[in-house]
Amino acid sequence: MTEKLDHIGIAVENLEQSMAFYRDVLGLELHGTETVEEQKVKVAFFPVGDTEVELLESTDPEGPIAKFIAAKGQGVQHLAFRVKDIEKTLADLKARGIRLIDEKPRYGAGGAKIAFLHPKATNGVLVELCQRD
Ligand code: ZN
Repeated sequence: MTEKLDHIGIAVENLEQSMAFYRDVLGLELHGTETVEEQKVKVAFFPVGDTEVELLESTDPEGPIAKFIAAKGQGVQHLAFRVKDIEKTLADLKARGIRLIDEKPRYGAGGAKIAFLHPKATNGVLVELCQRD
């Protein structure tokens, strides 16, 4: 059901400052930025090989990224796996008793449909499923 590692989500305090590392030190090319109101984040995309680094800066002190940084500091926040049919995948996982954060997909950066699995179901990793049409 899983096609590839779609992206790695990294929580950062300051997008501009963090972008400089990926652009100027690692030599990656910025593919764009987007604010996703629903997730309360501003996102910067850096494609690398067949996947992407997504830098996530919170736009709201109560947003999930702000809360993550407050609890754990900056760093890798989630891994996103590409699936073909996210509704079907979520239904299959639910039927197998896998704990989900999102039972229905929501809107993610880049127009993707996304849903998160519960870290308790994944041995501590926040896993996102992502469908891009
Ligand atoms: Zn993501």
